[in-house]
Amino acid sequence: MPDKNAPTLILGGGFTGLFTALHLSRMHYTRPVYLLDKEENFAFKPLLYELLSGEMDSHQVVPRYEELLEGNAIRFVHGMVSAVDLPGRRVQLASGLSYAYWNLVLALGSCAGYFGVEGAREHSFAFRTGDDVLSLKRHLRESLQRAGQTEDSTERRRLLTVAVVGAGPSGLELASTLADWLPGRYRQLGGDGSEIRIVLLHRGSEILQGDMNYNLRWTVHQSLPRHVVPIELEVETQVTAVRPDGLTLNMRGTSEDLPAATCIWTAGTQAHPLLKTLVPEEQRDKRGQLRVTPTLQLPTFPEVFAGGDCAIDAEKPLPAIAQVAYQQGYAIAHNLKALSEGHPPVAAEVHLRGTLMKLGVGEAAAELYDRYEIKGHLGHLLRQVRYLELLPTPIHNFKATTEWLTDAIFHRMEKAQSGHPDHDV
Ligand SMILES: Cc1cc2nc3c(=O)[nH]c(=O)nc-3n(C[C@H](O)[C@H](O)[C@H](O)COP(=O)(O)OP(=O)(O)OC[C@H]3O[C@@H](n4cnc5c(N)ncnc54)[C@H](O)[C@@H]3O)c2cc1C
Repeated sequence: MPDKNAPTLILGGGFTGLFTALHLSRMHYTRPVYLLDKEENFAFKPLLYELLSGEMDSHQVVPRYEELLEGNAIRFVHGMVSAVDLPGRRVQLASGLSYAYWNLVLALGSCAGYFGVEGAREHSFAFRTGDDVLSLKRHLRESLQRAGQTEDSTERRRLLTVAVVGAGPSGLELASTLADWLPGRYRQLGGDGSEIRIVLLHRGSEILQGDMNYNLRWTVHQSLPRHVVPIELEVETQVTAVRPDGLTLNMRGTSEDLPAATCIWTAGTQAHPLLKTLVPEEQRDKRGQLRVTPTLQLPTFPEVFAGGDCAIDAEKPLPAIAQVAYQQGYAIAHNLKALSEGHPPVAAEVHLRGTLMKLGVGEAAAELYDRYEIKGHLGHLLRQVRYLELLPTPIHNFKATTEWLTDAIFHRMEKAQSGHPDHDV
């Protein structure tokens, strides 16, 4: 058992972990806090599309933790967590370092899931981190350059075809960004932008099925043919194999080949692999997330909190999205502070405030409180401001200049709708 002065460790500096740390710092929490992440930069996942298209730069979308935590008492540790010994209260890093803790926050997020599709992991691009965006961008540039030099029209068509797998929110936002941005890139290299093909492959019969953005499906659907190049949507189409030169598809019972130099996989998520080493199966749900109490503690290890994509309160399940993760970060910080002062933890409150989807370069749609839909450039501004104002650095702090926007749209509506206190930003 570590001594009572051991730090609070936060594993994973994503939306849950980073916001737990920032809130603890603001609350003047007295125990030392270490934030551990395998990356040196925070990934603002909802804005990775803007990093790809160059609408925003890396300072805004993937800022360094050291910059984000400047002036805070939080210590950042860069390292890959390889094992956690819950009974022994110790965390092991792949580097060989290990850390004892008094309280622990598990905020490791989730991973891409490939449903065992042959070649999918090896030959498709993931789209979850800043590094994923950079390698995709490099590969696209090379494909366009090679396409510009080839005389073989079949090969050129393959080099200019991008397959996006999954018409959930990420697949749709990514396909929309590519369909607006990639033709211009090809034109800059001397090519004909209209030759770019963006093919969106979806297993289900309807886009956004079962997703929180489902109410936006008509708006999104109508936008698909209106990009710089139209998005070719194929529903009821299962990807059965991915190869370096293309994909094999099962299209409504018929096997088809899709020659494509680029395949991007957005179709599935799975639980972080460390979670199954922590607690027995019955303490995880069917997707492998950790079952937590309403106070976001592990039932058998109350000194351990978990939130975001890696945890679920079975009584009150919430979608795996950023707005849930950062509100849970606030709740975990509040409860850690309460425990440190001898008070009992309280149930986490999370308010879902609507959804925001990118519909291409400079376009977005927002659906607020199941009632209001805001589209086009105003939707785009609202989406960017809403995310950027969350972070504490001057480059992210748009609050002063954009107060009119958030005040006019979000806060007044929220008050009118529910009267809930605004504590998540
Ligand atoms: C492309 C994309 C777009 C999205 N867009 C939206 C959106 O528009 N709106 C929305 O609400 N949600 C969106 N989401 C979902 C949202 O980003 C997640 O729900 C949210 O990030 C979950 O927060 P988290 O803290 O649980 O995990 P994450 O934010 O994923 O953070 C987990 C952290 O743990 C670190 N980590 C993982 N394993 C280890 C290890 N072994 N050792 C050390 N560190 C480790 C990771 O590096 C990461 O920093 C999007 C997701 C993606 C992938």
